Amino acid sequence: ADPAAGTDQPDVETDGLAALTDDLAAGTDASGAGADRTADGRPGPFGWLAEQSRLRRAAGLRRELRPRPADWELLDLAGNDYLGLTRHPEVTRAGADACLRWGAGATGSRLVTGSTALHAELEAELADFTGFEAALVLASGYAANLAAVTALTGPGTLLVSDAANHASLIDGCRLSRATTEVVPHADPDAVRKALGARARRDGGAVREDGGGVGAVVVSDSVFSVDGDAAPLPALAAACRDFGAALLVDDAHGLGVLGEGGRGALAAAGLAGAPDVVATATLSKSFGAQGGVVLGPAEVIEHLINAARTFIFDTGLAPAAAGAALGALRLLRREPERAGRALDAARTFHRLLTAAGLDATAPDACVVSVRAPSPDAAVAWAARCRTEGLAVGCFRPPSVPDGVSRMRLTARCDLTDTQIAGAVDTIVRTAPRG
Ligand code: PMP
Repeated sequence: ADPAAGTDQPDVETDGLAALTDDLAAGTDASGAGADRTADGRPGPFGWLAEQSRLRRAAGLRRELRPRPADWELLDLAGNDYLGLTRHPEVTRAGADACLRWGAGATGSRLVTGSTALHAELEAELADFTGFEAALVLASGYAANLAAVTALTGPGTLLVSDAANHASLIDGCRLSRATTEVVPHADPDAVRKALGARARRDGGAVREDGGGVGAVVVSDSVFSVDGDAAPLPALAAACRDFGAALLVDDAHGLGVLGEGGRGALAAAGLAGAPDVVATATLSKSFGAQGGVVLGPAEVIEHLINAARTFIFDTGLAPAAAGAALGALRLLRREPERAGRALDAARTFHRLLTAAGLDATAPDACVVSVRAPSPDAAVAWAARCRTEGLAVGCFRPPSVPDGVSRMRLTARCDLTDTQIAGAVDTIVRTAPRG
């Protein structure tokens, strides 16, 4: 049996800590004496947190917030500003104008007071750009994934979920009342097998079950840790053979893949298909904040009426909607930004591999480089930082396969000199042995 297969993905945060608890149990002070006591000396409700914190520290896995200054001097290879738009004067101006015109907040949920003409314009232009019939903008990509997965499924639905999917898709599966089958990463045969078993039960094709789609295959388009692409055409073919829907999170594809950045679904010829729904964030290529669901008009109408993270959440702030619209219009005028971002990612990969490092071949803008251990990855990122380079660092429990990595993101506005300099730093500071 494949360890990735099953009905739920591991909870990378809490399961990881549970394992640590086992590992470190020998050295644990179970008395819990100290700050975890109430004033009268009884154990307080949060006493267990001190122990969790101690375990995290002991394992070198404690995370801390490190505010970055506005005039950050590091070369940023850790963020997701793939098109270099978050500080583009046209985009920041569009955000500021929207704030001045519509206010600092949306004032209410989209169904009450939180929909403005700006939101409607953004939705129409996002649908037009990506090739889908309709679009719905939400407060974040996370909320968009929760909305799409939960509103389209019911207790009788089978969700088939890639083992490497983003946390927001995993949480959508958990929040839904559907049955979830987790399939090995990027394995269309496993998807086909899962759908086939359900279809046989249903007499040929998966059957809609009153309150939800019969089966939905959910996948990232580009996986956020290793930057590899999902086999979308094969997934779509499997869905069609069994009457299932395909739901794709294009957070890392929109803006960089497809003609002029129209996204991974457009690149695969799947945009606008009646059985395909896409989600995306406005916080990566579009340099702003917010999320979107793209799909057939009846799907979007259903989400407006049924998706709890849409109905009960305050609408996207006007500044974010305005900035995203500014970014979209700029990308339409300068479509070459998408190709330049991809070229930068390929250059990183080529130079890192030539220097002997184990880097993943990027299908979009994410390149990850293997490190021998969590400590080595953290120390490597810290050495890069002191040399003026901000890089991401993934380590267990956030990576279920247990392999620590340095994660780099390419941007369209990096010069060849910057890329070569960054690679030089990464290679020079790489762990030995
Ligand atoms: N999906 C993927 C693949 C992501 O990488 C992210 C952001 N890290 C999200 C969804 C969530 O998007 P947002 O940050 O807009 O909530």
